[in-house]
Amino acid sequence: MGHLNLADWVDCTEVEGPGKRFALWVQGCTLRCPGCCNPHFFELTAKHIVATDDILAWIQRSEAQHKIEGVTILGGEPMLQARGLAEIASGCQKLGLSVMVFSGYMIEYLNKGPMFGIRELLQATDILVDGPFIAAQLESRRNWAGSANQRFHFLTKRYAPGIEWDSAYAPAVELRVYGDGTVRMNGWPVGLGEQLNK
Ligand code: SF4
Repeated sequence: MGHLNLADWVDCTEVEGPGKRFALWVQGCTLRCPGCCNPHFFELTAKHIVATDDILAWIQRSEAQHKIEGVTILGGEPMLQARGLAEIASGCQKLGLSVMVFSGYMIEYLNKGPMFGIRELLQATDILVDGPFIAAQLESRRNWAGSANQRFHFLTKRYAPGIEWDSAYAPAVELRVYGDGTVRMNGWPVGLGEQLNK
């Protein structure tokens, strides 16, 4: 059993991939793309250290409560914690849940297995969205991607290529207000003003 250093998680979201999904954000990213919407996840510092078995239990609870379709892994940079995330991804596959991963690294680099666990993580991933966020190429048409350079790789047959263009999953954000008054937002905020004015 391994551990992960998590930045945040949401037990059910509908804006981080196809269908209802458990989403988890890992802490730490050395790529530091200018304009990244999660700069507070950059630091390689312990945030929430959680055992992978506990995370899988959260995911199972979410499946029972929300009938989630899968899990989305974002960052921070997931590949820096690939070994622990591979345990999560293969556990999800055994549960029949899909796995979507966002990485700032390109698949050509990842396929060389530059860090422990990357091959295993990719073997248990259905959709990989790769590449750094480039603010000058802001994405406004495809679902879920932040910038137009990022590519969707369908590593299994679970999802058909083209789902990133499907208008049934139009880009959106979710806002959560917690009891202590904090507000958290996730999703892709392109057109946020228009959405709030609806
Ligand atoms: S790779 Fe992702 S998390 Fe890291 S800086 Fe770029 S957009 Fe942000």
